[in-house]
Amino acid sequence: MPLYEYECRACGRTFEQLILSKQSEVLCPQCKSADVTQLLSVFAVGGGSGKAAAEPGPCGACGAPVRGSCQLD
Ligand SMILES: [Zn+2]
Repeated sequence: MPLYEYECRACGRTFEQLILSKQSEVLCPQCKSADVTQLLSVFAVGGGSGKAAAEPGPCGACGAPVRGSCQLD
């Protein structure tokens, strides 16, 4: 399952979230804000809405299913 890392823009907390559906909203586990941004460790997000960014694998570089499971993460 795809595991993404997010940062809450309301309280600054970072957390990982399993995304079961692309339509599902991600809420901060600490303050329940929906104002979160997906962290991309490899891919640069070129302006616009971070939420609408392309959907790379969690690794971003090799498509590894789990963050940290490849050398590039
Ligand atoms: Zn928060």
